Amino acid sequence: MTSIFSKIISRDIPADIVYEDEKVIAIKDINPVAPIHFLVITKTPYISIVDMPNHESVYIMAAIKKLANEHGLEDSGFRVITNSGADGGQTVPHLHFHLIGGKTLSHSLA
Ligand code: 5GP
Repeated sequence: MTSIFSKIISRDIPADIVYEDEKVIAIKDINPVAPIHFLVITKTPYISIVDMPNHESVYIMAAIKKLANEHGLEDSGFRVITNSGADGGQTVPHLHFHLIGGKTLSHSLA
């Protein structure tokens, strides 16, 4: 099944793209929970972190850190979350990491 994120990658659905390279795309979350809320998405449509080969995690973590740096989050702090499966609260079955930052960031994980 083609996910909404695959349709964003193929430009069939619009999104506010903040970063893109050959392996990842980062977009603004349509329903942000903080002033900065990006979704860093693998172009390969892995369903969740469970499916991603371990060696590829290095690449996406580097992209997340680059984005955090470019958006001034390194000093203030930020949160990186990936939800996996139903019990993890995942709603879009295409691997993505939430990069969340800004002064209103809650300390709760709920
Ligand atoms: P999950 O719950 O799977 O970890 O997170 C999915 C995220 O994708 C949610 O935060 C939701 O707001 C975001 N989202 C869902 N559909 C779209 C969309 O069409 N465009 C964008 N930019 N974000 C989306």
